[in-house]
Amino acid sequence: MKVLPCGHLAPAAGARVCAHLTTDNGPRCFRVLTGVATRYDLLCTTCAEADTPELVDVCAGCFDRAEGLARLGWLGSPEVLLRDRDLGGTWTTTACPVTPLNDRCLAALPDGWLAWTADGLVALDPAPRHVSAVDLPAESPSKQAPEPALYTPVDGRFAAAVADYGRYGVVVDLASGALALTLDRQDYHPGTVRFPVAFVGPLVVAATGWNRLDAFDPATGRLLTERVTTYEENPEHYFDYFFGAMLPSPSGRSLLVDGWVWHPEGIPLVLDCAAWFAGDRHAPEHGRTLAVRDEWDMPMAWVDDETVALQEIGDKQRIDGIQLHDARTGRRTGMFAGPTGRMWGHGGLLYVTTDDGFEVWDPAEGARIGFVPGFHPTAHGNGAFAELRAGRLRIWTPEA
Ligand SMILES: [Zn+2]
Ligand SMILES: [Zn+2]
Repeated sequence: MKVLPCGHLAPAAGARVCAHLTTDNGPRCFRVLTGVATRYDLLCTTCAEADTPELVDVCAGCFDRAEGLARLGWLGSPEVLLRDRDLGGTWTTTACPVTPLNDRCLAALPDGWLAWTADGLVALDPAPRHVSAVDLPAESPSKQAPEPALYTPVDGRFAAAVADYGRYGVVVDLASGALALTLDRQDYHPGTVRFPVAFVGPLVVAATGWNRLDAFDPATGRLLTERVTTYEENPEHYFDYFFGAMLPSPSGRSLLVDGWVWHPEGIPLVLDCAAWFAGDRHAPEHGRTLAVRDEWDMPMAWVDDETVALQEIGDKQRIDGIQLHDARTGRRTGMFAGPTGRMWGHGGLLYVTTDDGFEVWDPAEGARIGFVPGFHPTAHGNGAFAELRAGRLRIWTPEA
């Protein structure tokens, strides 16, 4: 280790700051992308406008301090790494005269797919088979119209049919078609978030209020997480947070939640379901913050049980791409530019549906490694991706 130009015998940040940012109380600055991957330097306004600004290699500590002043946004362009190769896998295409209500209304079953259509739930295993009607209570009028969304557990025993940006949902027993549970998250600003619901192991976790999750056994309808969470009765465990879309980790140990708090600020969280179901009753009220941003409802995925991928890089000002976070510490551990669109994690890779087609990104490389033009899947399960559109069911199963 050698003494860096900032005067410190410390690990180098591998990035530079302008000379005005090497002292305490420096000016606010830009993140200026260097054009190499997502690397950037920090420059004050004067230096960002200069033809040949003086830049200083600094230690990690000095860079972090200057980064606290990076409130002016991004300049320049990142490098998007495209290393497409033929990913192989198997394709099947079949005629399928079934129309999901929207692109959130197709979900995986162990032997096929489940669609929520105008006629209710239809299983495709593979021939279309009517399972049940879906009757949700009428929603009260709101600025954001409710949008139907469908979820299934890995074992395919149940399905949750819910109103994103709405108040109600149901859980249906797919063997009998019977109603297993009615979901109601009450009427406090549901239009700001998708309906929080997820199957975790044999249980279903769903919001029962704007700031409260509960777990139910869908086989019996039993509530398993009785507890007090109101401010008046339990201020220590009161959680001032609007729960939104939820995504279980591959093992089901953790739950990734996309929600927000008044300001408003989007705060993606990781909840410890293993601790919750092992007896830590207030685990849902004590999630781990991954980021604080001025938006929410952005695509997210699990890369593996310890790593979360959030779309868009940055907090207040953002660029297209992905930031990776350690789910245990919340720390950002990497980022790469490019992907934008609905996203799934599978086998350590990230899969993104874009306007042009389907992209496969390798977070370890920070690069796109495959692209399928014209394929726009809307569901994932059992290692396969499905697109059901215009009477045609197209399925791609990438090589494991
Ligand atoms: Zn400067
Ligand atoms: Zn330093």
